[in-house]
Amino acid sequence: MYESNHLCALLARHAVLTPDHVFAHRPGLSDVTYAELFAGAERTASALVAKGLAPGDRVAVQVEKSIAAIQLYIGTVLAGGVFLPLNTGYTANEVGYFLGDATPRIVVCDPAREGEIAGLSEAHCLTLAADGSGSLSEALPEVAGFEPVPRTADDLAAILYTSGTTGRSKGAMLSHANLASNSETLREYWRFTRDDILIHALPIFHTHGLFVATNVALFAGASTVFLPRFDPETIIEAMPSATAIMGVPTFYTRLLQDPRLTPELATNMRLFISGSAPMLVDTHEKWLTRTGHRVLERYGMTETNMSTSNPYDGERRMGTVGLPLPGVELRVTENGAEVATGEIGVIEVRGPNVFQGYWQMPEKTAEELGDDGWFITGDLATRDAEGYVTIVGRAKDLIISGGFNVYPKEIESVIDDLPGVVESAVIGVPHPDFGEAVVAVVVPEGAPDEDAITTELSRGLAKFKQPKRVIFVDALPRNTMGKVQKKELRETYGELFNG
Ligand code: AMP
Repeated sequence: MYESNHLCALLARHAVLTPDHVFAHRPGLSDVTYAELFAGAERTASALVAKGLAPGDRVAVQVEKSIAAIQLYIGTVLAGGVFLPLNTGYTANEVGYFLGDATPRIVVCDPAREGEIAGLSEAHCLTLAADGSGSLSEALPEVAGFEPVPRTADDLAAILYTSGTTGRSKGAMLSHANLASNSETLREYWRFTRDDILIHALPIFHTHGLFVATNVALFAGASTVFLPRFDPETIIEAMPSATAIMGVPTFYTRLLQDPRLTPELATNMRLFISGSAPMLVDTHEKWLTRTGHRVLERYGMTETNMSTSNPYDGERRMGTVGLPLPGVELRVTENGAEVATGEIGVIEVRGPNVFQGYWQMPEKTAEELGDDGWFITGDLATRDAEGYVTIVGRAKDLIISGGFNVYPKEIESVIDDLPGVVESAVIGVPHPDFGEAVVAVVVPEGAPDEDAITTELSRGLAKFKQPKRVIFVDALPRNTMGKVQKKELRETYGELFNG
């Protein structure tokens, strides 16, 4: 019955084949079977359509991680809608921008934030709390059963915003085929089956937790240990009965701090996957020593889904992101021409995984996504003779703190607007826990006041974007063209969090 809806046909495969198999083990809560998951998704689809959702309409969602939130994702796609998840840390101000840009038909938020969010747009506002309560659950019909809205491979299934370096966020449009093809590839490449139990501790408003972790588990008919957030204690408890985990490097550095992490604890585990930010070779080595397992590192981004992965059976090379996935073409270029083996260039990617462009930004799309299908990622890398890709930096100074992207320009604009500030430069510096920490280098107008600046920033910015340190200087270093030398700043302050 799901066959008319491209992505849902694959998502629902195991709800039909093994309805009684457990999709989610939830510590302290009841298990959720595939049949229960999909019954809830169908009821959600019915409710969305009853609230006026038409094919192609966006459903913007800023809610805590829960099974009901997964059902909202599947329900939106079943109903022919376009799922638009938002980071739970975004302030009302930030959410307002996304609602204005994406003009969703429906917005779903936490009941505690209804007052702030409901008035931001014309969208019909529903609420969903972490425990599943709220006006969305009240709108669900008693009976499951929903005829999926027919969608083709090229229709949109999701829009995920990835803030741009210019400060303006871009909505990456992902089609049914983009998501379905990548999840199928990963399921096969990483050998996920119904016998797997995946520890799912990632947020579900980001490509990693939503499309890599959730879709791959669903496509395989696997079970998950479905956790609301990353908590080392719960992960240590879950590991003896689980088979796999997907995480950001921070997960691994935190777990390494726990003396209970031993080869015995990881006996049942077959796969540790890391991505979303670079994992230090040192972390790879420590993990191997402590657990006997080599972390499998992969690389991707919101626009491309996953593009490369270290091999499952072959050599996993620490410090590299592996080889292009089956069906994905990758080249490293400089000024459009491929560089020689070992030379640094920008990664370009082509394949069924590559997105459809940026929502309502044809010019920006044309700059980065060519008519020939090659997408310029902006990541700088080298490729060795065997094809292994090593990422050496980001062309655009993006900061990744705890797995979340922070765009310096956005923070700088907010700081520069504060009273007592002449100008600022925001950089990422190595941090043992977060990978990178946000640091603001500020030129003050008179006597510097760090407290005033941090207080102001905590009002307007999500926590993960707030600088961990504010440093005052007389002037920013500039080159002859007047460009601020961020590389120099990163060198000067590179040791701030070292010990
Ligand atoms: P996002 O769109 O939030 O998934 O962020 C994508 C960016 O994260 C990429 O463009 C890379 O810069 C970075 N990234 C993802 N995986 C890795 C990795 N394994 N190593 C280094 N950088 C990574």
